[in-house]
Parts: sequence; structure tokens; C-alpha cells
Amino acid sequence: MNVLVLNAGSSSLKHQLVDPRAGRVIRAGTIEGLGSGRSHADAIAELLASLGSESVHAVGHRVVHGGERFVDATAIDDAVLAAIEAQVPLAPLHNPANLSGIRAARAALPSVPHVAIFDTAFHVRMPRRARTYAIDQQIANEKGLRRFGFHGTSHRFVSELAAGHLGRPLAELRVVSLHLGNGASACAIEGGHSVETSMGLTPLEGLVMGSRPGDLDPGIVLTLARELGVDGAEALLNKKSGLAGLSGVSNDLREIEARAADGDDGARLAITVFAHRVRKYIGAYAAVMGGLDAIVLTGGIGENSVTMRRRILQRLEFLGVSIDEDRNADAKVSDDAPIADISSSTARAHTLVIATNEELQIARETAAVIELTRGAQSKKPIPIAISARHVHLDRAGMDVLFGPGSELTPMKPLSQPGQYASEERVNVIGPRGRIERVRVLGPLRKACQVEVSRTDEFALGVDAPVRQSGHTKGSAPITLEGPKGTLQLPEGLICAWRHIHMHPTDAEAYGVVDGDEVEVAVTGGPRDLVFGDVIVRVNDQFRLEMHIDTDEANAAELDQGAAGGLRQPESQEPYTPASQGTATLTKKPRA
Ligand code: ADP
Repeated sequence: MNVLVLNAGSSSLKHQLVDPRAGRVIRAGTIEGLGSGRSHADAIAELLASLGSESVHAVGHRVVHGGERFVDATAIDDAVLAAIEAQVPLAPLHNPANLSGIRAARAALPSVPHVAIFDTAFHVRMPRRARTYAIDQQIANEKGLRRFGFHGTSHRFVSELAAGHLGRPLAELRVVSLHLGNGASACAIEGGHSVETSMGLTPLEGLVMGSRPGDLDPGIVLTLARELGVDGAEALLNKKSGLAGLSGVSNDLREIEARAADGDDGARLAITVFAHRVRKYIGAYAAVMGGLDAIVLTGGIGENSVTMRRRILQRLEFLGVSIDEDRNADAKVSDDAPIADISSSTARAHTLVIATNEELQIARETAAVIELTRGAQSKKPIPIAISARHVHLDRAGMDVLFGPGSELTPMKPLSQPGQYASEERVNVIGPRGRIERVRVLGPLRKACQVEVSRTDEFALGVDAPVRQSGHTKGSAPITLEGPKGTLQLPEGLICAWRHIHMHPTDAEAYGVVDGDEVEVAVTGGPRDLVFGDVIVRVNDQFRLEMHIDTDEANAAELDQGAAGGLRQPESQEPYTPASQGTATLTKKPRA
């Protein structure tokens, strides 16, 4: 499966085509310069053109804010799109661009599944004490003011890699994960879940970032709002703070490090404030978890800045953290070799530098959602139709019973495309008795066929074999009487083998092929029943439906008057949908 991973920002579209099972990146790139004149739709058209013959089986979209609504990766439909839209006020910088990307991609690739992966989802199990702001709770609840956390995709990815590297289940580890990029956050991971993280309601809280301040006295926000207006304050806090605000020149640590080396005081201040804040969080999170097994550093700064790592990790021996200077200096990580252990030999807690790969994580989660949806599909109830006794005629039979050249008069379409109940009826006559006015179904077929139940057989006085429709060779003889004549069939009477009509897409979803035998359980009605020996018939003209005869329906009390209205009011006709209920399918191994 190839998953196209899209990270739509306001000015760029980052994309990767990933095979999540192989962990292989097929294509990767960034389309820049969006916004002025060039839309997300233009970028997606350009991207799809560049993929050439590579197929896209699914699209995974990074979405920054899932709010309280999204606790997991979610398949996107119109309702989900509207719900993501509703989170826009929480992430005004990110969600609108994410949404434009989703809309453009869905329009360009309407037939593949689209899945949203939320930066907030990993933090969903954060305990109440960690996600609550100490403000008036009535207002907090009304306005949805709580901590959500971000970078979840990255924290999840690196912590799982760390556990793999340490050879222990993540659930047994206490990990502090530090994602230090342009955006930066710390996360305490215990029992395999995020239990604390430094970003809050919005990605403004916590660590010092490229252009955001992280933690500050809310009084400052009030002052800024008074002095600069709300928009001015918002711009300052999002764009002119953090490393950029401290250094006065850049949000790029490389440039700041170069200037600091040349003695620039602003640059030095930026570095020390940044490192101090991260150290503070490591100590706090070790306290939150009651100890520490591993620290993971990731993101552009965590993966690359040897000096920043040294600054952050100094004097943490009291937590069992000690790094080997050479290993730190030599640590090089990439998607192919993503882990470098920089712990000293005496360290009790491991320190790992890990290359994050949010795209691979998004691709994996996208594939998982699709597999889950397929699994759910295979549990989807199968509509059941009760087939009353009926007759199929061939051309010759029609001529005899209704006169030469006569045609069937369609009365009511049946659920299977092209099939209909006709106005015409015939009498079915056996050695012991007769059944009057049995409905003829159209259109005409290659051979005459009469389908009855076991009870009917008894009334007629014939033994009919259980057969699939169309398999009349060697079946029982029967006589039909029409307005224009009588037809003695040497064979053609059958008791229909209970079966399920499936379109090939249904068969794929249920994991069966034409001719498979399955069991179908009818539950939740007055009498639960499992039908064995149900044969699957697959054809691209079929619609999903199980057909049983009236005896079988009676045995499960799938009849008029049964609870849940299992038959529709005008239920005299064959193939009345009996139940949208809960028939589930189990595949039997073939003999
Ligand atoms: P984003 O959050 O936008 O994905 P990244 O994870 O790419 O950002 O991190 C960008 C940050 O990483 C920038 O501050 C950049 O200066 C820093 N960075 C990247 N490479 C190095 C390096 N070799 N040394 C120091 N800092 C680096």
C-alpha cells in the first residue's frame, strides 16, 4: 500500500509517498510559495503530476488540532471535515491550511480513502490534573479551555523506537521525549501514553520555540493585549518571540549558534534561555513520573545541535542521566539509521538521539485506520431477503404457458439489479397437490426453474434437491399450468440453497470468493439462529443480500409481526428485505 502523506502549511505543501509496511519513502518533497496566487489545489495537481505512474492507495493528512473530538487517526468524510473546521479557533495558524490541503486532495483523489492524523491524539489520556488549567472551571468548560498538547505523532514515533532500541516494552518505561524543532515540546510518557506535555490549549505554551515564547506570565499577555491590541499581541507571541525574539535576528538555531560564537549577547541569551527551559521540564517530568528511564531528543535541534544537547543534559546525574561527550559529538541520525545512544557507560537512564519521522508514522496510522475500516466492514450486517416460492421461465415455457411470443409484464423490481417480479402467475402441480398462483420472476432465463420450500415440497408430494439457482440438471420433475397451456418439466424443481449475493467489493471486504461456504448468524431477533452451508455468489451485477426461503425465515422468526419489523408491510412478494439486522458472517475453511 502506498500512502501519500500530506502536511499542508500556509505557505508550503510537504509531501511524501510512503510504503508504510516496508518503511520505505518512495518520493518526498516540498512545494513552496503557496498563498500568493498559488493554491493548495494547484500544489496538489503539481504533486500528482510529478508522481507519474506511482499509485496512491490512501492519503494521510497531518492535522494540528483535533480538539476533544478526535482521539485517534480518523477516516475523513464531510462530517469529519466539518468537525476539523470547528477546531480552527484552537489552531488558527495551522488548521486552516491543513483543511485547504484536505479539500484539495479529496477533490483530486476522490476514490481513495483520506485519513486525518492529529498532533493532539497521543495526549488524549493525559490525566485530568495535567490537562486542567487552574482557572474558573465553569468558564474553562464552557470555552473548552484545557491543555491538549501537540507533536503527538513525533513523540509516539520516537518513544516507540526508543523502547525497541532498549529492548523493553514502552509500557514499562518512563520516557521524557523532547521534540526540539521550530516548534518545540516536551512529553512525559509513562505506561505507553503521554501523561504530561508542555504545549497546552495551543502550541504557544511550554518550551522556548523558534518564534513562540512558551511559558510566560499570563499578565504579560494582558499587558500586550492592552498595548498592542489583541491581534498585535497574537502576532508578537506567534511570530516575534522565542529564539527570534530573544536573539533579535533569527529563529534558526544554526545562525544563532554562529552569532553566539562571535560574542553576540542576544544570541547567547537565546541559547541559554532555551536550554534552561528544557532542563527545567526534564526535572519536572521525572518528578511527574517518579523517575526516568530514558530521555529522547529529536527535531531539527535535538537531532543536530551537539552543543545544545550538551547544555540541556549537563548536571542531570542526580536523575541517572550522563552523556558520553564523544558519542554526543559523533551522533548522526537519519531515516535509515535513526537512533544514536549518547549515554555514558555509567548512566542509569539512557539518552537517545532519534530521527523523528512523522510522515512514516502518519503513513502507518493511515494504513492501520484503513485496515480497521475493512475489518469493520467484514462485521457489517448482511441484509436478509426472504424468497417466497417462485418460478423462472425460458422462452419455450413462456410460449406454452402464456401463448407464443408473449412477454412478462414487470410489476415490481427486485433488489438484485435487473430482476423483477412480473404480473404473471402459474399454478404448480405435483403428484400429491397443487399450489395456486405462484409468481413468475423476470427476465426470462435459459431454463425453467421452480424454487419451493421444504413445506411446499410436502404439499406437492415431490422431493426437490437443494440446489444453487441455475443448477437444475437432474433436479425433480414438476408440472406448471398457465392460462394458455400446461408444461410438464422433466426437471427444474429445486429447493434453493441459501446464498448470499455479493458484489466483488463486498466479497473483498468479507474476505470470501465466489463459491465459498459461510455461516450467517441472525441475532437480536426473537430467535437467534446460525445458518450453516450458506453459499457465496459473487457477480458485479449483484447487490449484497442473503436469500433464504420461507421455512428458513420461519425458523428464525424472520416473519411479519416479528419484533423489529423484519418484513416490510407489503411483504407478499419474493425477496422482501427481511432484516437490516445483525447477520454476521463466518468463513468456514474449504474441505
Ligand atoms: P520544524 O519544527 O519546522 O520541523 P525542524 O525540526 O526542522 O523544524 O527544526 C528546525 C530547527 O533545527 C531550526 O532552529 C534549525 O536551526 C535547527 N537545526 C537544524 N540543523 C541544525 C544543526 N546542524 N545545528 C543546530 N541547529 C540545527
